[in-house]
Amino acid sequence: MADNQFDLVILGGGSGGYAAALRAAELGKSVVLIEKDKVGGTCLHRGCIPTKALLHAGEIADQARESETFGVNATFNGIDMSGVHKYKDGVVSKNHKGLTGLIKSRGIQIVEGEGRLTGAKTVTVGSDTYTGTNVVLATGSYSRTLPGLDIDGQRVITSEHALVLDRVPQTAIVLGGGVIGVEFASAWTSFGTQVTIVEALPHLLPLEDEASSKLLERAFRRRKINFKLGARFEKVEHTDSGVRVTLEGGESLEAEVLLVAVGRGPVSQNLGYEEQGIAIERGFVVTDELCRTSVEGVYAVGDLITQGNGPHLQLAHVGFAEGILVAEHLAGQPVVPIDYAGVPRITYSAPEVASVGLSEAQAAEKYGADNIKTVTYDLSGNGRSAILNAKGAVKLVAQDSGPVLGVHIVGERVGELIAEAQLIYNWEALPSEVAQLIHPHPTQSEAIGEAHLLLAGKPLHVHD
Ligand SMILES: Cc1cc2nc3c(=O)[nH]c(=O)nc-3n(C[C@H](O)[C@H](O)[C@H](O)COP(=O)(O)OP(=O)(O)OC[C@H]3O[C@@H](n4cnc5c(N)ncnc54)[C@H](O)[C@@H]3O)c2cc1C
Repeated sequence: MADNQFDLVILGGGSGGYAAALRAAELGKSVVLIEKDKVGGTCLHRGCIPTKALLHAGEIADQARESETFGVNATFNGIDMSGVHKYKDGVVSKNHKGLTGLIKSRGIQIVEGEGRLTGAKTVTVGSDTYTGTNVVLATGSYSRTLPGLDIDGQRVITSEHALVLDRVPQTAIVLGGGVIGVEFASAWTSFGTQVTIVEALPHLLPLEDEASSKLLERAFRRRKINFKLGARFEKVEHTDSGVRVTLEGGESLEAEVLLVAVGRGPVSQNLGYEEQGIAIERGFVVTDELCRTSVEGVYAVGDLITQGNGPHLQLAHVGFAEGILVAEHLAGQPVVPIDYAGVPRITYSAPEVASVGLSEAQAAEKYGADNIKTVTYDLSGNGRSAILNAKGAVKLVAQDSGPVLGVHIVGERVGELIAEAQLIYNWEALPSEVAQLIHPHPTQSEAIGEAHLLLAGKPLHVHD
């Protein structure tokens, strides 16, 4: 039994935990990172990276199918799922190796094992204890299900199972039209699955501006992806060949698999948090805007937390930012709370949906409907999008005679454009200031420039 002392003890080596570790070590702190599985967490092993690899494989399949449109003679002969996994797993393991090396190179001690908070500043792993001047809780999240909906890992599955499925299902029902559900629906459709999404709210991606949801729905209709909106799950039964899902109202749907994508809950149970006096709300660890928990010296970051102002954005880059914020705060550096509305959000489906800032509805609520204006620039006016056969639009929400409040983009490959939109929102740029900036031609980024020219009252490639 060893008692080990560190400046910082971090429980959980996912995006939030390892970012805190890297930055704290950079700032001269002694750090131990305790991880029961693999550093990199959900994002690297079961989330961001593997899903985007699947979506990229799907994009290649679609391009092979559509090659004739571009005058290229290619044929699509099907998906070799073992080949897709080899490619996906190769990307993940390369990143994992790089990350492990980086963590070690900063002098951070990695402890492999399941930790539990046994004192306010002490984590116990097996018979060893790790005590810190400070502790960061970063135990992340898990795939939720609904009451009475049992996950069997074969026919009723979560995203973790979907990522390692050894075949392309012929048919699938996706329960939940949020980011994860929409991304799997998109990838599976590209692979050849007939997908039906069931969403309880009135639109797919219900947290996005309604105009973006509608554009996505139009594109999904074109791709023959079925979706049922305002539809609530009642029960699921096994059939000879898969599952039968019954919706409230009696309608039933059958498919080979049911993917449950109804959100992610916090990993906070039986970890000693409550026993140490850490305030918890619906399972989430409550923090203030500097990620401080209710216990002095104990911080929490990432998917695990709530800041008491509605759902927290469960994104890897939010975890990175919170980890960095905590490390800098502990090192005595001046830090500013994160403006969560200014965090860029992307759904990597085909087409992609990206946004930053406020939706039109949120802006109207905050500033009054008469004090905001919106413009929409259709990608049909953008040369690069025409080359790529990308359809969609850039929608801007701005304060009347004031800064840009929100940028909402839909279209193939537009996710990359949100980085510029992030600067526009976070620097509170005026439409006239962005209209001054020259965008390279022909790029999809021009659509951002054109939308701001339109908002500044001097449209270029826009039909009257
Ligand atoms: C399918 C899917 C796709 C996603 N795609 C994206 C995307 O494209 N972009 C994006 O920004 N986000 C995406 N996310 C979300 C992103 O993965 C999470 O926001 C991010 O991983 C959260 O980081 P975290 O550090 O809070 O938690 P996690 O990454 O979950 O890390 C927590 C870590 O703690 C460890 N742990 C838990 N309990 C213990 C314990 N008792 N002892 C030791 N270790 C413990 C776990 O093993 C895990 O490694 C996706 C998520 C999913 C599920």
